[in-house]
Amino acid sequence: MGESRPEVLPRVLSGTYEDRFSNLAFIGGGKMYRLARERLGTISDVLVKETPFGCSTPILFMQHGDRRFFLVPRHGEREYRVTAPFVNYRANVWALKDLGVERVVAWTGPGSLSSELRIGDLVLPDDLIDMTRNRATTFFERKGIGILRQNPVFCPTLGGALTQVLTEMALRPKCGATYVVSEGPRLETRAEARALQAMGGDLVGMTLAPEAFLARELEMCYHPVAYVTAWAEGVAGEGKAAASEEERQARIDETLQLMPEINWNLLALLPATAWACSCQDSMLRYKQRKIIDDDFHTWI
Ligand SMILES: [Zn+2]
Repeated sequence: MGESRPEVLPRVLSGTYEDRFSNLAFIGGGKMYRLARERLGTISDVLVKETPFGCSTPILFMQHGDRRFFLVPRHGEREYRVTAPFVNYRANVWALKDLGVERVVAWTGPGSLSSELRIGDLVLPDDLIDMTRNRATTFFERKGIGILRQNPVFCPTLGGALTQVLTEMALRPKCGATYVVSEGPRLETRAEARALQAMGGDLVGMTLAPEAFLARELEMCYHPVAYVTAWAEGVAGEGKAAASEEERQARIDETLQLMPEINWNLLALLPATAWACSCQDSMLRYKQRKIIDDDFHTWI
């Protein structure tokens, strides 16, 4: 029907994937994913994973040099086939855990609530405000588990590695922003943008929640990389009035062109990284109380 077929056709996997392919996944939005699929590496397999929460999005098995990783199109293989409120976050995160993933780097293209954060800027957010309304936000409905601290909400070790990569590439990342997650797919009203600013938000996007919270529930390290794609309503950014739609797109594209190298440099850095975070022990107290065991499949 006019769509070009993927080079490797997705297959559905209902059981457990036997071989450990990689412990790292990159989750991407529409723009990042399109570029990543073309340039990030070679694709050896595409898997749709059945989970207790439904089917995951197609997950790509990729390789660059001798490094392997997963690439996850959050919105589906075709651009925005599934809008942010309808992404099956639980199926996607569960599928990654089932594939042996321990670290997740989540790319996201939010709008800016701050005149300090301009279109095309790379930002490493360090906090989250969840303003979503209609999403399944937890795996745990029954056992009284999942009362987890969210400070820091993102993995500090992964954040440190990303800071190092971006700094060494002389990209001067903006660190320390608060990302507000809105329900979408519509954008904010002017009054909503003012309210989110007053709450302390620096960026507003639609996808990091519940993704980040679900990753913590399954003891995975998770950190976002944000590239600013727009101004929220009423935010007066430097040069905003003068910037045409073409200029805005050009700035976003310029930043996205850096994405493969950022990911490759992170792939090279992670094996030598000292993991000082507690992400992979987030459920430890429930294990110590014998409410759950080590097999996450039994936690729900
Ligand atoms: Zn961690």
